[in-house]
Formats: sequence, C-alpha cells, structure tokens
Amino acid sequence: MIDFNSKQTLFSLELFPPKDTESMVSIYASMGRFKAFKPDYISVTYGAGGSDNHETVSIASDIKNKFGIESVAHLTCLGSTRENIDSALLALKAGGIKNILALRGDKSSGNSDFKYATDLIAHIKKYGGFDVCAACYPEGHKESLNKERDFDILKLKADLGVTHFISQLFFDTNDFEEMLEGMAKRNINVPTEAGIMPVVSAKQIMKMVMLSGARIPEKLEKCIKRFESNKEAMKAAGINYAVNLITELLAINVAGIHLYAMNNPDTTELIYKAISPMLNKTI
Ligand code: FAD
Repeated sequence: MIDFNSKQTLFSLELFPPKDTESMVSIYASMGRFKAFKPDYISVTYGAGGSDNHETVSIASDIKNKFGIESVAHLTCLGSTRENIDSALLALKAGGIKNILALRGDKSSGNSDFKYATDLIAHIKKYGGFDVCAACYPEGHKESLNKERDFDILKLKADLGVTHFISQLFFDTNDFEEMLEGMAKRNINVPTEAGIMPVVSAKQIMKMVMLSGARIPEKLEKCIKRFESNKEAMKAAGINYAVNLITELLAINVAGIHLYAMNNPDTTELIYKAISPMLNKTI
C-alpha cells in the first residue's frame, strides 16, 4: 500500500527490465542499494525497449516479495486485445502485484481493444483487485492540441478513481506548477508526483527529448553546450540540475518525487543524498 498521508514526501524510483542476462543480474545485485534509498515504491516499465509483460511482472513481483519494497507495474494497452490485457492482469495478480500504472503506450502494430489510457483504467477498475495510477504531462502530451485539452483528460482519469499521477519528465518547475493549477481549476484532488530524469549525457537527453517532446530550458541548454565534451563534467552538471529542480519542487510542497533511476544506483545515490533531508513534509 502506498502511503500518501505519511510525513515524508513520496519518493519513488522507476526501473526498466534490462535487455540482457548480465544487466538483469546487475539490477538484482543493486536492489539492496535501491532499498537503502527508502523508496515508497519502485515502478517497472512495460514494453519500452522491447521488454514484455513477463519481465515486468517477474521484476515487480520480486521487488515486492523478495526485497520487501512496494512495487508498481506499468501496463500499456495499444496493440493489445482485451484477452491480452486480461492475461496480463492475471499474471500481475499471480505475482502478488497490487499497483498498476495504466498507460496507452505509443504507436504499435496489432489490434487494440483500448484506444486511450482512460479505457484501460476503466477496464482494470472493473476487473478489480488493483490500485491504478496514471500519467500526466506538465507540458501537455505531445499529440494533444493544447495543454488545456490535455489537462481535461486528467479530470477523466481522476474521476475513474486513480490513486495518483506520475508526471512525464520536464526541466522547468513552472511547467509543473502550471499543470497543478490546471488540475486545481478542474477540482482534481489526486496526489501528483513529479517525474525527474537526471541528465547524465548529452546523447541520453537528446533521445529523451525526442521520445517525450520535453522542452529544454535555456539554462539546461547552456550546461549541455558547456559540458557535453567532458563525460564527468556533464554528469555532475546533470545531477546538480536535477537536484535543483527537485529542491524547487519540494519548496512548493510537491506530493512526490518519482526518479527515473535508469537502473543506475550511483546516480540515484548522489541525488538521494542531496535531497533526503528535504523530503520531510513537517519541516
Ligand atoms: P493517454 O492518457 O491515452 O493520452 C494519449 C493522448 O490522447 C493524449 O494526447 C491525450 O490528451 C489524448 N486522450 C487521452 N484520453 C482521451 C480521450 N478519452 N479522448 C480524447 N483524447 C484523449 N510507455 C511505454 O511503452 N511503457 C512504459 O512503461 C511507459 N511508462 C511511462 C511512465 C510515465 C510516468 C509516463 C509519463 C509515460 C510512460 N510511457 C510508457 C509513455 C506513454 O505510453 C506515452 O506517453 C503515451 O504516448 C501516452 O500514454 P498515456 O497513458 O498518457 O495516454
């Protein structure tokens, strides 16, 4: 059970199923370190990078049952039939998983019985036995006509009973605040975690920006231009940028920080050490 009423601001991590056996061994070997950062939960992606539901279920199940950390399994619906989704739900239930991040996913071949995340959320709620959370987009989803239209979708998701939102990565606190204002205007009272991606290399950021459509503010662009030729300098600048962004978000009392940990315990540790004294809500 994810405790949204605790005295600590929610802190969660996101991992992805590794592609090869060596990386799989390494992620399990790192789990003790991830646990030391006291995450309220760890979420495991689905489908991204070619992984399938089996890997998501087994990792999310082990996180919960072997390592004693609450887990959230991502589940996407584009390219899946109702039968595919029901067998995924059955596997999640068998794995003892209680929380699902219900997503549409991106373009995919194959028949889709569900068009939007809202269709999947409604189906899982009807199926029963899971807490469901959903994605939100501080800059609006890349396919959306405008932010306002996209924030209307959050109201639909909230009304379907999602437990919380996790945001897409973003690099400017103003965008996140604007989304929270849009949500407040629509009477959406659902805890919303800020998704933070530490920029550790110029190549990685370009890939992330291409996939997410996130805007790079001028101050981050200057950091990338100045430090991209030096790996260590770029990593240090990227971690500092993420810590500063998190500090700004904690100052406005954000409900939670969801760190895209990229299976990297070293980066996660540097960020956790810098922010952990600030995670206490009662300061
Ligand atoms: P939706 O909420 O369905 O929105 C998609 C588009 O349709 C938006 O433009 C929205 O405004 C519009 N829309 C939504 N509902 C309606 C409606 N009822 N009527 C009209 N228009 C509507 N992808 C993966 O493949 N695997 C992952 O593990 C994964 N994890 C993610 C984790 C997070 C925290 C986030 C933010 C994204 C993740 N993604 C993942 C990416 C995600 O699948 C894409 O961003 C996808 O393009 C949209 O998913 P969604 O659930 O937000 O879709």
